[in-house]
Amino acid sequence: MCIHISMADDLPRIAVWDPDEVSIHIARGFQVRDVLREVRDILTIDLGAPVSRGGPLRCFCGMRVDLPRELFPCDLEAQAG
Ligand SMILES: [Zn+2]
Repeated sequence: MCIHISMADDLPRIAVWDPDEVSIHIARGFQVRDVLREVRDILTIDLGAPVSRGGPLRCFCGMRVDLPRELFPCDLEAQAG
């Protein structure tokens, strides 16, 4: 079962690994850059996923892990403009 990433409220940290749901919960209201760093750390350090420099996030099985679209509303608008 692949790792799933979802947004959540009331987290103690920017990103929290939930082994029961095989998912990483991301707190709302943080910079995408910070979220990415936290999620990457959890994936590679805690879960043993392959490190991909500058590439997409990877599950420990090597499959691509997508971040919630909710994280990027500003980026999408900036690229369109
Ligand atoms: Zn996987």
